Amino acid sequence: MKKLLATDLDGTLLKDDKTVSINTINTIHEMINEGHHFVVATGRPFFRITKILKQLDIISDKIYCICNNGGLIISTDGTKTLYEEKMPHEHVVELIDLAIEHNLNLLLYKKDHIVTDHLDENVTVFGNEPLLKIIDGGKEALKEYQDVYKIVFNGTYEKLCDAKSKFPSEILEKFNFVFSGYDFLDVNNKTVDKGFAVNHLAEILNIDLNNVYAVGDEENDLGMVKAVKNGCCVANAKPSLKEVSKFITLSNEEDGVANLINKLILKPKILVSACLLGDNCKYSGGNNLNSGLVDFLKDYNIIKICPETFGGLPIPRVPSEIVGDKVLSKDGLDVTKEYILGAKVSLELAKKHHVNCAILKQRSPSCGVGKIYDGAFNGTVIDGYGVTATLLKNNNVDLYTEENYLEILKKKS
Ligand code: SF4
Repeated sequence: MKKLLATDLDGTLLKDDKTVSINTINTIHEMINEGHHFVVATGRPFFRITKILKQLDIISDKIYCICNNGGLIISTDGTKTLYEEKMPHEHVVELIDLAIEHNLNLLLYKKDHIVTDHLDENVTVFGNEPLLKIIDGGKEALKEYQDVYKIVFNGTYEKLCDAKSKFPSEILEKFNFVFSGYDFLDVNNKTVDKGFAVNHLAEILNIDLNNVYAVGDEENDLGMVKAVKNGCCVANAKPSLKEVSKFITLSNEEDGVANLINKLILKPKILVSACLLGDNCKYSGGNNLNSGLVDFLKDYNIIKICPETFGGLPIPRVPSEIVGDKVLSKDGLDVTKEYILGAKVSLELAKKHHVNCAILKQRSPSCGVGKIYDGAFNGTVIDGYGVTATLLKNNNVDLYTEENYLEILKKKS
């Protein structure tokens, strides 16, 4: 079941310092490797996201991004344009006149650069923008520019809000006005919308609209979050987004998008005793293959563990049992250290993969869940947990065995 996740950049995927964590990048790649579609959906023009796309390592003719608030759908390598909508020139002229009337600064977004006549002193993000062209001749001179994808009014939030409240109703009906940050009021054609673009891309990619997700933080993400079946937002989102979101993930500073991918997009991860999957790692050199379990696990991402071999014990090996607070082999050797090491390695794997559920081999001195052998090596079973099972349980991993794994489904429902 292929899924599509569209994510806004600023304030959502990007941290406040405009970086993306390694954890988030790795999680995005896990998602892509599982066959899902990861889509950057931003108000920015394509040429202002290429550095980020490179950092994410998603430059490809098969991975797409949505730019200009939905006015452009293009492959991340820039070679395939799936959808493009420019602003009619008479609309550009109308908006320049509006800016002159309300004394607003404005930026014209072209395909490969931005044009303005004046940069407001409050706007700092464009300070070092090499693709910003500042022209002479005032705002009237901007009217010469054709092929504009969107217009951005910029200034203080208060000034922009005040001006917007005075715009004539026919102007408000004719264009989409959305804040993409406190200093930026984006203006697009009414037909340009991130939500439309995301659903349109999903249709092109043949993805069931029920499997489309979008996440954002700002007002210019509201249309997208409302339009898709599974609208989400980060914890730092505007209240208007939180109101309409079906899922609120962690903040942009806490890898919110990675958390969302792990919770909603990827197959659930589960820790499983390797011998149950057919690995010949049990003490005898054989396995405990459980075909029903293998079939059940096809909808999961499996993290295999064999704590005894993680602890350095060989295959085959003398069987061991828990005796008091030690683990002893049948020939009397103390292997407690190896069992503890195997448990620690298993817990590290659980933490690394954000796993909170395990299916472990019942009765084993490592993996046993609720039942173990009594330490007399005569087949008597008593209540108790294996060394690894105990450590996982103490770290809030839900434990199941080959005997009761179907109960996971009951918990899910
Ligand atoms: Fe199976 Fe666990 Fe024993 Fe490894 S340690 S053989 S996974 S029961």
